[in-house]
Amino acid sequence: MRRRDKEKARSVHHENSGVKLRSCRVQEAPDVLDDGVLYIVGEGLHLWYAAMLCPCSCGDILNLSLMPDSRSHWILRYHRNKTVTLWPSIARSVGCKSHFNIRRSRVVYWSDDTRSDAPLSK
Ligand SMILES: [Zn+2]
Repeated sequence: MRRRDKEKARSVHHENSGVKLRSCRVQEAPDVLDDGVLYIVGEGLHLWYAAMLCPCSCGDILNLSLMPDSRSHWILRYHRNKTVTLWPSIARSVGCKSHFNIRRSRVVYWSDDTRSDAPLSK
């Protein structure tokens, strides 16, 4: 069942963007992920995937492959100030359908949600 009104209500929280993530290098993702932590899983120079709880607080775990030979994967960039950027954006096709970027360790939502007067895209 679709609850569009509920989804709209939730998008209000998206204005609260720019949540700072803590990045954490691990060899294995823990069973229970901490909110606000981006786990970067790999061994040595090999990065396998990044794991995090969905920042919209729906509780879903997002696994983002960092391996270039997997069909869809993300590119992780470390900055000098130890923040990380993931490219491209993360667009969920299931669940909460959140769409956001991780830029310099900050969660930046795509602004479409907050612009209610924007014309519908075709
Ligand atoms: Zn979510």
